[in-house]
This record gives sequence, C-alpha cells and structure tokens, in this order.
Amino acid sequence: MARHLRPVADDGSDQLDAPLRDIVGKGGPVLEKTRGIRTVGQLLDWLPRSYLDASRPVAFRELPHGEDVVVVGTVVSARTLQMRNRSGRRLVADVSDDAGGVIQLTFFKPWGHEERLRPGAKVVCSGQIGHWRDTLQLTHPDYAVLSAAGSGSGQWLLDGLVPVYTATKGLSPIVHGDSLDLVLHQLQELPDPLPEEVRSSVGLPGLLEAYRLVHRPRTEADHRRGRWRLAFQEAFVVQAQLARARRSADAVPAVPRVAREDGLPHALRQRLPFALTDGQEEVLAEILGDLAREVPMHRLLQGEVGSGKTVLALLAMLAVVEAGGQAALLAPTEVLAAQHHRSMTMLLGPLAEAGMLGGAAEGTRLALLTGSQSTADRREALLDAASGAAGIVVGTHALIQDHVQFADLGMVVVDEQHRFGVEQRDALRAKARAGSSPHVLVMTATPIPRTVAMTVFGDMEISTLRELPQGRRPISSFVVQAERSGWVRRTWERVAEEVRGGGQAYVVCPRIGEVDDADLPGSAQEGPGLPIPPTDQARSAGEDGADLLEVAAAGAGSGIPSLHGVHQVARSLRELAATRDLRIEVLHGRMPAEDKDAVMQAYAAGRVDVLVSTTVIEVGVDVPDATTMVVLDADRFGISQLHQLRGRVGRGGRAGLCLLMTQGQDPEGVARLEQVAATTDGFELARLDLETRQEGDVLGATQSGGRRTLRFLRLARDEDLIVAAHEAAWRTVEADPELAGHPALAAELDRLDQARAAFLERG
Ligand code: ADP
Ligand code: MG
Repeated sequence: MARHLRPVADDGSDQLDAPLRDIVGKGGPVLEKTRGIRTVGQLLDWLPRSYLDASRPVAFRELPHGEDVVVVGTVVSARTLQMRNRSGRRLVADVSDDAGGVIQLTFFKPWGHEERLRPGAKVVCSGQIGHWRDTLQLTHPDYAVLSAAGSGSGQWLLDGLVPVYTATKGLSPIVHGDSLDLVLHQLQELPDPLPEEVRSSVGLPGLLEAYRLVHRPRTEADHRRGRWRLAFQEAFVVQAQLARARRSADAVPAVPRVAREDGLPHALRQRLPFALTDGQEEVLAEILGDLAREVPMHRLLQGEVGSGKTVLALLAMLAVVEAGGQAALLAPTEVLAAQHHRSMTMLLGPLAEAGMLGGAAEGTRLALLTGSQSTADRREALLDAASGAAGIVVGTHALIQDHVQFADLGMVVVDEQHRFGVEQRDALRAKARAGSSPHVLVMTATPIPRTVAMTVFGDMEISTLRELPQGRRPISSFVVQAERSGWVRRTWERVAEEVRGGGQAYVVCPRIGEVDDADLPGSAQEGPGLPIPPTDQARSAGEDGADLLEVAAAGAGSGIPSLHGVHQVARSLRELAATRDLRIEVLHGRMPAEDKDAVMQAYAAGRVDVLVSTTVIEVGVDVPDATTMVVLDADRFGISQLHQLRGRVGRGGRAGLCLLMTQGQDPEGVARLEQVAATTDGFELARLDLETRQEGDVLGATQSGGRRTLRFLRLARDEDLIVAAHEAAWRTVEADPELAGHPALAAELDRLDQARAAFLERG
C-alpha cells in the first residue's frame, strides 16, 4: 500500500492534484467509485455535513435513541448464533463502557467480523442507536478496532468533534475518515491563494490549517473558522478574477463623449411629457459622467419594469450621438427590439427624422436590425449603421454579426440582462473605432441582491432605480387554488369585467401545448383544459362541444395534474360562457417572428382583449391598457419570474391585478405564491428567491457559457464575507496587476480560466 505523497514541487502546488489512489490504499478506489473523488484536493473539499458532539465518553445508557452516535468500548463477549427462522448466522458482540453499560453489536453476515471482534478488543463504532427489548443495539455499525499503540484505523474518532459526511452507500465512514487522516498528516504547507497580508488583516488561518479545522475540529469555533476561511478564499478568487477581467477591459480606452448642454438630450427632455424623477436624474448623471471618461463605461442599471430605465438609456444614447458617435441597443427578443424601436421613435418625434421632410435640423435617425426582417429593410439598416446616418441602431443579436458595421460606435446598451460571452464582447469592441472600446450599459429589470451583484456583476458599477415614476398604481396579487371552483369562475368573470371596462388581459401558461390537442381527446400527453368550475364546464360542454370535458378528464385521470398549454387554454376560453365574446389571441416562441410581432402589435393597439401566451413576452413589454394577468400553474414559475411577469400589467394609469392560479399539489409552491402575492418589493422577493435556490442556479440563470458552482459560499447568507473579500481582492489586483508577488493566486486564477469560468468574462 503506497502511503506517501508524491514528491512535492518546490512550492508544494501539486499536492492537491495528487491522485488519491496512490496515497490512501484501499480507500482510494472506494472514494473514486462512490463519490468521484480522485485527488487529494477533492477529498479535502468534501466538507462534513455536521458534527457529533464531542462530550464523550458518554455512558451508554445515556445515548439518545435513534440518533447517530460514536461509541468507544471493550468487547466483553462475542458469539455466532444460528438464526431460528431462516438460514444463516448472526454475530452478536457485547461491548461495554467503563460504567458497566452494554451495547450489542449485531451483524447478519458475521464473516470477517468474528476474527476482529474478540473479547478484550477495544473498538470505536459509529451507527444509529436502536434497542431491542431492554438492550441497546447497533446493527451493522461501522467500526474500527483500536490498536494498543494508539494509532491506526478509527483513532481520529476519539478526539474532538466527530465529523459526519453525507452518507454514501458503499463508503465506510471509517475508511473515509482514515483516508482523510492520512492525507492531513502527510500534507506539507499548501501554497495559499490568499496573500499573507490579506490573511493577517482579516485574521484567517492558512489553507492547510483550514482543512484541519473543518475535518478535525476540537470545537464548534474551529470548524466555523475553517469554513469561513474556505468560503473567503472562494469569494476572494472570484473577485480577483473579476478585478483582472475589468482591468483588461479598461486597458482599451473609450472615446469620451460629452454632449452640449443644449444639444439632443436637452431637446428630448423638452419633448418628454413628464419630468424625470430624482432617482432618474441621479442615475443619468452617473451615466453621463461615465461617458465623459476615457475609461470605458461598464455599468449595470437595475430597476423594476416601468421604473424608467429605457428613457434614461435613450438620453444617454443621444448624448453619444450629439458628441458625434453612434449607439446600439441590443434587445433579447424581436418583440422587445421592435417595441424599443417604436417607442423611441415616438418619444423622439421629429428628432428621429433627420434628413427627412419635417425632421428637426439637429436630429438623428433610428435603424432597426433584426434577423427576420426583409432583405431590403436589412440592407437599408446596415447601410445607415455603416454610413453613420443612423445615430441609434436597435436590434437583436443580429447586431453582433460580422457584417454589421458602424461609422463610429460609441456606446452599447444591452437590454434585460442579455449576457455576453467573451467572443461577443470582442465582436462588439471590434465594431468601435480601431483601438477603442465602446461604453457599455446593461439594463436589467431583475432586482439583484447585493451578494449576487458582487459575485456575478462584480466588475461593473451598479446604478439602481428604486421607485417607480409617480402615477403608477401598485399591482394587487392573489393566489387562486384551482380546486376552489367558485374562485376559478370568479377569475374568468373578472377577466371579462376588466375587458368590458376597457382593460386587456394576459393569460400566461407554462407550456405551448399542441395546436390540435382537441383532435386527440384522451391522449395521455394532454394537459387539462382550463380549470373551469364543474357547472360551467358541464354547461359549456353541453352547449359548445364535448371536447372540453374530455380534455379535462384526461388531465384528471393521470393523477398528476398536467400543465396548461397555450392552445388548449385559448380554445377553452373561446368556448367558456364568460369569455367567449372576447377577442382572444395566442403568442408563443414557436411562432414565426413576423406573426409574433403582428400579434403583439395588435395587442398593444387594443385590437386583442386577451393574450394567451407563454413567457415569450419578455419583461419590459409595454401595453398601457393591460390591467389583468392570470398565471396558470403559477407554482411552476420562480419567485422573481412571477414578479417580472406581473410587471407587465398596470403600466398605464390603472391599477393592475394579478391572479396566480395553482393546481395546488405542492405546498411549498403555494407558499411561494403567497409570498409573491404579499409584497411588491422586488428586492425582498429577490432575496427570498435566493434563499430557495441553489447557488448554481443563481449563477446559471445570470451567466452565459461556462457554468460555475460555488462550493463553500452561500450567497443568501455570506454578505459580510463577500464584501470583505471583494475589497481585499480589488486592492490586491490594483496594487499588483500582474500578481507577480502572488504566484499561488495567479496559479489559481489560471486554473479557473482553464476550467472555462466563462461567466466571469462577460462585457
Ligand atoms: P423600463 O425600461 O424601466 O421598463 P421605461 O423607461 O420603459 O421603463 O418607462 C416606462 C414608462 O414610464 C414609459 O412609458 C415611460 O415613458 C414612462 N416614464 C419614464 N419615466 C417617467 C417619469 N419620470 N414620469 C412619468 N413617466 C415616466
Ligand atoms: Mg424596458
């Protein structure tokens, strides 16, 4: 059995990468097979789930029944018995503590244990304590026979707190612990990604010490300290990566863009039918300040839907145009690109008609560039962008393509958290004047908790619009349980009433479903029809056709309620007594882009009363008369997503209403809905959301490209730590950009790079 680490590099750096097999003997293959743990570092990074109390030895009779225990005692007798009712033998060993208490160890496969559990042997056992009649028992415990010399297997169980790891079938905790012991004893000082001065200023133990503290703590305080240090390192490394990315982005300067006092932005402000809020003024000043600098702007603007981000972006873009440059606005969908183009054209009025009859002399032009437009339209847009005739180019991803050229691209606005990968950022930079970077403004309607912002957007400045412009009425939200037929009926009546009162409604479904579901009655794939009250259902089935009933029955028969699809719901609404007279249309992602845009335009123009859709209408879509939203199977959506969805209603002067309907299977899901209904504070909801999600999901949702999960950090909990790590890391990189004095940190960052931590590298 090989029992030594491989020769150590000068800086000790390859110790963590050393294959475990070579070191821990028989434990190696087991760890690899059960946990995928192949290296020393992976073994150390698998932290205990909890710790057993150290106040041992406990008299056996005081042991808590049914709990995991670790006991030490001496075998007083062992016997193998033939089992009465079945074939086979059973080994029973009595182990006693010093106080005369006895625990019975039972093994139904005595083989191999008989030789070890001989009277007089001192053993340490871990397992779940049970009892049979008056006898305490451990059935098939994990155990080790302690050697007289005080070394060897299981010895680590005798001191301090006992670490407990997630139970893994096929992996004996004692074999695992012995492997760890071996590794912890043999490791030499590890190269530390945390610079010495950071460690001493924050009061952190070294890396090896930290591993010892979490795996072999003597006290609660020990493992807390060890964990804190490991989490701090994780946060620090992420922040150092962000700081370095930011430095390299800043290395290519931007062209400062300073608008004249009485220029285009001023002209637009004169035209606006409202005054900017104080919050908007503040943020606008921050943005204009950035634009005037040679350091490229790299700013995230967050604010709820309707908080007035877009109008600020437009003012900023006009400042760039005024200063002789061009600006591009990148939207995540065709619908949003078209809406931006329309609403900006409207806000600008004659200011967007430069060179046209009736256009303002000092104006500019807006171009729209999307993947689905006609060749002629695209050619014109491309020409306007390349010649500089269009000061502002709005578009989808099509904007980033190679053949799109600008005369002088000074600023890029990215709407709604549409994330860039490295390639896309480089592609954009290539569109700016040679040797320069465009200024970048990213807008998001998702309120981002501070810890997430620092971890994911840590390389950006952040501006926040906290209030909605005056005149906006809050949205009331209610949870509707689908089995309460009275409520369900009321819901659809409410939709009809809103429409009669001049409003419009969204009905959001979790899936598209099949256009011709109705032709496949009884198909197991089908979702239910509308949650429609039984009387109404019977009536409409009788009056309007039988399929409605059958569809609902198919859903009910499957046991698990299936999810509502857009097509079925639209069809049901067209047949339901309360809603059949309304103008109902569908919208979903599988429709051709022109159709989507046409439906959306018809809805925006008030020619459609009820839009049944998936979540395809991204946040930010603006239909002032939309007052009501019904979300079907609302428990299928995340907290933040629901909050964003309902932000689509109540955007005009009228109060908004959001009804969150659920088939109510999952109590946690319903509880989440109640939380969403209870508050309109997006930041509060974002925080709740964070607590209910895995770290990987949080990052996954906001990054494009490589996936990174956090091992030790908890974004919902570790705010102080992340702030401290952020400050320390940015100071470190500032003082030593090449990290010449911090080889271990540099090596760790390279490792991350190689692991394609692409999300850190967006623009
Ligand atoms: P966001 O992009 O944050 O969703 P918008 O900029 O689209 O918000 O603004 C939403 C609506 O409110 C638009 O119709 C916009 O013209 C209007 N608006 C923006 N700022 C104000 C303000 N200060 N007062 C009144 N209305 C405003
Ligand atoms: Mg918007």
